[in-house]
Amino acid sequence: MSSIKKVLIANRGEIALRILRACKELGIQTVAVYSTADKDLKHVRLADEAVCIGPHPSIKSYLNIPAIISAAEVTHSDAIHPGYGFLSENADFAEQVEQSGFIFIGPRAENIRIMGDKVAAIEAMKSSGVPCVPGSDGALDDNEKRSIKLAKEIGLPIIIKASGGGGGRGMRVVESEKELVDSIKLTQSEALSFFGNGEVYMEKFLTTPRHVEIQVLADQHGNAIHLGERDCSMQRRHQKVVEEAPAPGISAKLRDKIGNICAEACKKINYRGAGTFEFLFDNDQFYFIEMNTRVQVEHPVTEMITGVDIVREQILIAGGEKLSLTQKDIKIKGHAIECRINAEDPETFMPCPGKITQYHAAGGLGVRIDSHIYNGYNVPPHYDSMIGKVITYGESRGNAIIKMQNALDEMVIDGIKTNIPLQRSIMNDKVFKKGGMNIHYLEKMLGEGE
Ligand code: ADP
Repeated sequence: MSSIKKVLIANRGEIALRILRACKELGIQTVAVYSTADKDLKHVRLADEAVCIGPHPSIKSYLNIPAIISAAEVTHSDAIHPGYGFLSENADFAEQVEQSGFIFIGPRAENIRIMGDKVAAIEAMKSSGVPCVPGSDGALDDNEKRSIKLAKEIGLPIIIKASGGGGGRGMRVVESEKELVDSIKLTQSEALSFFGNGEVYMEKFLTTPRHVEIQVLADQHGNAIHLGERDCSMQRRHQKVVEEAPAPGISAKLRDKIGNICAEACKKINYRGAGTFEFLFDNDQFYFIEMNTRVQVEHPVTEMITGVDIVREQILIAGGEKLSLTQKDIKIKGHAIECRINAEDPETFMPCPGKITQYHAAGGLGVRIDSHIYNGYNVPPHYDSMIGKVITYGESRGNAIIKMQNALDEMVIDGIKTNIPLQRSIMNDKVFKKGGMNIHYLEKMLGEGE
């Protein structure tokens, strides 16, 4: 039994429901917090207690730290689970949660802070033996000659990235030497206005990499393991659309090698909880780009192929328990695919909130639906357009794809537009079926690439 008796879920939508389910299995009481636009969320109805924390703008509710901490106080919660997005990677929030006497279900604030600063993160990773993209070894200064020399050494094209960047913003690719100085200045000033931190650094620009990431779990007693990798190369505008595990073409040997490096790095930085090391994968080499210090949208594909409940582990770790699994216990079996279902126009990608007039979920062996929607649910316009995820598990990749095709055919979501037609065409795409696409493939398939 966990020492945690009551968890406040500081999130909404499918991940809030996912966390609620894990708590219920562990016999832990749940507190939902919601904005005025979200009183009809499924997990709000299912939670033991629910507290309205403010109006619909996130800044007044899901990002409102005092309101969330007060809700934890009045409900006598022991712990707060931040989910993903919102406050999940806000080191100040993690710190305030702990200073107020609650358990933060996530890493220590200092780890979140380091990983939120890309220059610091890369430095920490390099010194822990994690392979990084060849680059500037720290922030660029205003010595133009030095920057030009560096770019030549690394080899063009290069990419200038904001240290405080996120969500695919604050990056600029530089193809030729003559653009370099202006590009650095421009990225610096954008970074300052977007993220309040003008620090930028330089990396080699990998032209056709894949996105492959490693899931880790680390406890508070110095143990850390990896749960293998996920391939999230199917992206549009840096947003993941389809994820799968394992990554096609990655050998067990390569997986173990990079996975063990990540687990060791967790021990070195004194990491705790679940985390993801994101890599660009090119010519059989892994290049670290960032670490996510929270549960990820795509965690279910890893759960399906390992049988490990990642959210349950997060809660147990936060409660002070030792990892019950060793690396030897982790066996990867079969293949899992996740399609994100968004309330959006499948052609223009414009969000499409509104009332769901008819909903039938797919089913069958190896089909998992993580979603908070139901018949008559009104998708509010104020938040992310993702309304759920369809995950299929098969003995082989081909089998998981067929199951996904069938599941998408079975899904009925009427009243709003969704990207199901897009997901169907991806599942029928010849190149996708072969596997191992690079991060530009989806945009190319959609006719959006250069
Ligand atoms: P963010 O935190 O904004 O998501 P990342 O560092 O994770 O930033 O990079 C986001 C995306 O930008 C990557 O998934 C990749 O598509 C592209 N990218 C970042 N660095 C490089 C690089 N060195 N070479 C090629 N593409 C890159």
